[in-house]
Amino acid sequence: MSPLPKRGILLALCSPSGAGKSTLARALLRSDTNIRPSISMTTRPPRPSEVNGKDYHFVDRAGFQRALDAGLLLEWAEVHGNLYGTPLEPVRELIETGRDVVFDIDWQGAAVIQRAYPDDYVGVFVLPPSAEHLRSRLQTRAEDAPDVIAQRLKNARDEISHWREFQHVIVNDDVDRCFARLTAVVYVERVKRLHTLVVEQFAPKLLDDIDRLVEEIAIGLELEAGTNPGP
Ligand code: 5GP
Repeated sequence: MSPLPKRGILLALCSPSGAGKSTLARALLRSDTNIRPSISMTTRPPRPSEVNGKDYHFVDRAGFQRALDAGLLLEWAEVHGNLYGTPLEPVRELIETGRDVVFDIDWQGAAVIQRAYPDDYVGVFVLPPSAEHLRSRLQTRAEDAPDVIAQRLKNARDEISHWREFQHVIVNDDVDRCFARLTAVVYVERVKRLHTLVVEQFAPKLLDDIDRLVEEIAIGLELEAGTNPGP
């Protein structure tokens, strides 16, 4: 059988801030070299640990608007008062070359990606194990000011209210267990797509081959009956 054409999956990883989604995305990227990150553009100022071009493309509002006007963004949304958007061209390239892409985006962005690429899209929502966990995770990260943390906790409720829109929902009660669930989702979604290709290409050929064999056997039996008329 010739090698099957491969098309990557578009994995939207969504959760409220502080549910551990970025840690999961990083772990996934480290563990699987076929998966690439979608690097968003944002008007949010960089946090101390963040690197321009690696974590985000940091731009000012005018720069973001230029990208938007030029049609360079697949989707965009205002989150916590800042603008975030997904550059279109890298996604197109990655998906066409069979790479899987992971998006660390909000529910609005995930919905746009689902509409644009319904066959390739996989939506995963990560829930925190409790409200208290969510608060303490937001506090211990401590890279944001307290008023930002308070606003994010309020916004978390709104983000979580969209959990039903996702194909997979994972509770982040333990980071290793949660990561194992996420890798299982990626595995299953890849197998499902390979299965589709198999069904479309391989199974019809297999059926034709079986029909041919049945016919050959029937002809053989007829010939045998002709040369051996019996008692
Ligand atoms: P943070 O500022 O904590 O990095 O991100 C805030 C929120 O914006 C997170 O929920 C994150 O997933 C979301 N976000 C990041 N990039 C994008 C993007 O390109 N599009 C959309 N719609 N949301 C994004």
